[in-house]
Amino acid sequence: MERFICKTCGVEYAESDSPPEVCPICEDERQYVGWEGQRWTTMAGLRDAGFRNEIREHEAGLTGIGTTPRFCIGQRALLVQTPHGNVLYDCISYLDDATISAVENLGGIQAICLSHPHFYDSMVTWSHAFGRPPIYVPEADKQHVMRPDPVITYWDGRPLELVPGVTLIQCGGHFEGSAVLHWAEGADGQGVLLTGDSIAVANDRRFVSFMTSYPNNIPMSPAKVRGIVDAIEPYSFGRIYGGWWGTIVAEDAKEAVRRSAERYVKRIMEDA
Ligand SMILES: [Zn+2]
Ligand SMILES: [Zn+2]
Repeated sequence: MERFICKTCGVEYAESDSPPEVCPICEDERQYVGWEGQRWTTMAGLRDAGFRNEIREHEAGLTGIGTTPRFCIGQRALLVQTPHGNVLYDCISYLDDATISAVENLGGIQAICLSHPHFYDSMVTWSHAFGRPPIYVPEADKQHVMRPDPVITYWDGRPLELVPGVTLIQCGGHFEGSAVLHWAEGADGQGVLLTGDSIAVANDRRFVSFMTSYPNNIPMSPAKVRGIVDAIEPYSFGRIYGGWWGTIVAEDAKEAVRRSAERYVKRIMEDA
């Protein structure tokens, strides 16, 4: 029995004798099947291929963990470290002993939450390696869980404070259950929002964007864009960390979301 990992989206599947026929995550219109057809690997396969994880501090109390060379979608996970416990936001496929000891040295993981199913990756393996902290998966995206496990806690989507000062917020959009994580103490007390691609940091980094599908360029409806802006409105934050190394809106981030949403909706409604 093996736990197969999709080589296009990076999601790990429940144990099986042979690879699954298809990857429903990749068959969905928001993703795509690799150009060479559906391919699979395993954790051992990744290790043997020479993958490793890079661990870098973004700011005091916030650490990024990403796989090198790039694997699949190429996101990095974020570990928010607080005196009350650490929260892992988003996950990656690869995990090895070096990563486990590095994360243990930072205080381990007390809760796992995710922006959306493309970043579920090996979340159950990660939880099991760190003493089985709960993984909060929105009820709205339950059908996208490919490896069910008792550590998964289905969440009704109402704002949830995972440890004091760290709140999971469902904003919808890219997926029905798409979520962001608010860290009140981040950016020297201005507040930080971790967004994955629930809110995607644009390349000029003064703007963000919103898409139903990023690889397939399917835009988002104005109502959903406004729903995202409304969901984060009650929270203060000066900085956004998106899902990849370097995707950071360093300052004035809340205003950046507001003006980006306005620009997006204006453009999509033009001549409508
Ligand atoms: Zn896949
Ligand atoms: Zn995605």
